[in-house]
Amino acid sequence: MSENNKIQRPSRAEAEEAVRTLIRWAGDDPTREGLRGTPDRVVRSYNEFFAGYEEDPVAMLERTFEEIEGYDEMVVLRDIRMESHCEHHMVPIIGKAHVAYLPGKRVVGISKLARVVEVYAKRLQIQEKLTAQVANTLQDVLQPRGVAVVMEAGHQCMTTRGVHKHGVTMVTSRMLGAFRDDPRTRHEFLTMIGGGTARGMDD
Ligand SMILES: [Zn+2]
Repeated sequence: MSENNKIQRPSRAEAEEAVRTLIRWAGDDPTREGLRGTPDRVVRSYNEFFAGYEEDPVAMLERTFEEIEGYDEMVVLRDIRMESHCEHHMVPIIGKAHVAYLPGKRVVGISKLARVVEVYAKRLQIQEKLTAQVANTLQDVLQPRGVAVVMEAGHQCMTTRGVHKHGVTMVTSRMLGAFRDDPRTRHEFLTMIGGGTARGMDD
């Protein structure tokens, strides 16, 4: 949160005017019937797309600590729907995330794992940074024996512009603790998430 506090937000009217400018830049007339409500809709969409700037994943996880009765097996949440926006082109990155950790003394409700992905995804991102942020936050706050995050996503900046590469999926991973140091732990995780796409991501 603190990193965003120094950002001076424009007014809503300024944001809507910026959308009108982009409409004109695209070659259309922002005053014509079909486009008249568009700046308002785009600005409201931005409230959803970028809601993650308003939330602090660390505080969210800290609120949900629970003591556990010796549960020390891997916790895996797979196929978490992930919707983000590329910070280079501001177009969607759509895919899924798989998150796992090996509990130390604390566990967290599984819905919180998905929420951590969502909060970081709903910011301007690159997939590598998003993957690292989710893993590092879980490691820092839960202090587990290990964390693994794998993300697979399509980038509309690759499929709808530039090189127009369709059907390409980018895969990123971040392995910490036992997932990095112990090949059996890593293998167990990759098998649980359906190893095929995740092979060869040991680094
Ligand atoms: Zn891009």
